[in-house]
Amino acid sequence: MLKKLKKLFRPNTKPLTATRVSGRENGIDKRDISHNALKVIELLQDAGWQAYLVGGGVRDLLLGGHPKDFDVATDATPEQVQKVFRRARIIGRRFKIVHVRMGREVIEVTTFRGSHEEASGKQHAVQSDKGILLRDNVYGDLCSDAWRRDFSINALYYDPSDDSIVDYCNGLSALKQKSLSIIGEPDARYKEDPVRMLRAIRFMSKLGFSLDAASEQPIREHSDYLLEIPPARLFEEVLKLFMSGRAEAILEQLHHYHLLEHLFPAAADVFNRDESQAKRLLLCAAANTDERLAQGKRVTPAFIYAAFLWPRLQQQMQALRSQHRGGEQELLNKAATGVISEQLQRTAIPKRFLIPMREIWTLQLRLPRRDGRRAYTLLEHPRFRAAYDFLLLREQSGEELGQLGHWWTEFQVASEERRQALLESARNSQAPRKRKRPRRRKPAKNND
Ligand code: ATP
Ligand code: MG
Repeated sequence: MLKKLKKLFRPNTKPLTATRVSGRENGIDKRDISHNALKVIELLQDAGWQAYLVGGGVRDLLLGGHPKDFDVATDATPEQVQKVFRRARIIGRRFKIVHVRMGREVIEVTTFRGSHEEASGKQHAVQSDKGILLRDNVYGDLCSDAWRRDFSINALYYDPSDDSIVDYCNGLSALKQKSLSIIGEPDARYKEDPVRMLRAIRFMSKLGFSLDAASEQPIREHSDYLLEIPPARLFEEVLKLFMSGRAEAILEQLHHYHLLEHLFPAAADVFNRDESQAKRLLLCAAANTDERLAQGKRVTPAFIYAAFLWPRLQQQMQALRSQHRGGEQELLNKAATGVISEQLQRTAIPKRFLIPMREIWTLQLRLPRRDGRRAYTLLEHPRFRAAYDFLLLREQSGEELGQLGHWWTEFQVASEERRQALLESARNSQAPRKRKRPRRRKPAKNND
């Protein structure tokens, strides 16, 4: 019976009419909406088009939060939208949208999407042979737009002109029940765009919602749909996941749903080994990121990537060591190249993060060597702070580094006198460096 009731609630049968309720009575305060978004809606409506606030903005307003961005949906085509605004740019190919610039803010305006079955004429929707939606520019009406969205809580529309919320997919009741429910037939919707599986994890963790059983099942069974997504798009999603302020919970969930292995295969291996120090390192990296964000501090994806790939880097260095002739730095470089190229098969890592990530790694080899002027030179290194934080992270996860993190914490703030004492103590505690074997001299040529 309960199952039957739940089925009735699931947004998988298309009703022709929507529920319309008052925004104010449901907690929407217009003062929380960006002025610019309201202006965009007003101008579109004045030009004779329909226009609504939609998506995360409406969802977060109803949840009492302060949305970070506001998206607008309209029945005007991108070209028609462009005619209404002086500063509007059509972007995207897979999914055409218009960026309308208002002052310093950019408002995203999307045209109502339609159902593909009803599409006629030119092929504006293109699917891969695996059923993945490569392009989705079939336009439709408000109702079809609601049904093309991902989760019912993301398919609510708000019209500021009459303060009405339009709900086609039972989004309001899902919000009240803190339930995340994919619209339509779950397996087909995930197959069409596997990134929706990652979005499910993100919204669950970010909003504290639970995923309904029907929306959950295909994720467990078909996490490998993610293999079809290009690395560049997955990188964007990884950023959203780990910069959401809920990275630690998300990491656990990604592992639980077998999604981690398709994003970070190396980290997923580590995660399967319970209680390992390497696993603690990943969890600590995620928790630190959450903490920093909560304190309004800056976080860089380079740091997260450095942590997520560190255990594999160590493993690779170990494996290569026996056949390696050069120094540790060279060994690290060689192992890093392998680890990075493995990761690039799954997610892109733009150069602006790749370079600092490698620097964080190489500095781990330099931080223990503090003799002479070295400690002072390291302090000046542009990546010192990130490398030092990384060192603390390693210690925090249980790696035994002889109080090296503590030493650097003190050295940074110490007086010159204290610094000399610290350097002295470091000299005494550092293992004597292996003396190089004297090179055998070539026998002198006999010039006689
Ligand atoms: P947030 O911006 O807080 O991360 P959001 O829900 O606004 O959350 P966006 O990525 O900004 O997420 O997308 C805006 C809206 O577009 C969503 O609310 C949803 O309605 C729709 N949407 C986004 N991605 C997809 C997708 N992959 N499939 C279907 N609809 C989507
Ligand atoms: Mg958004």
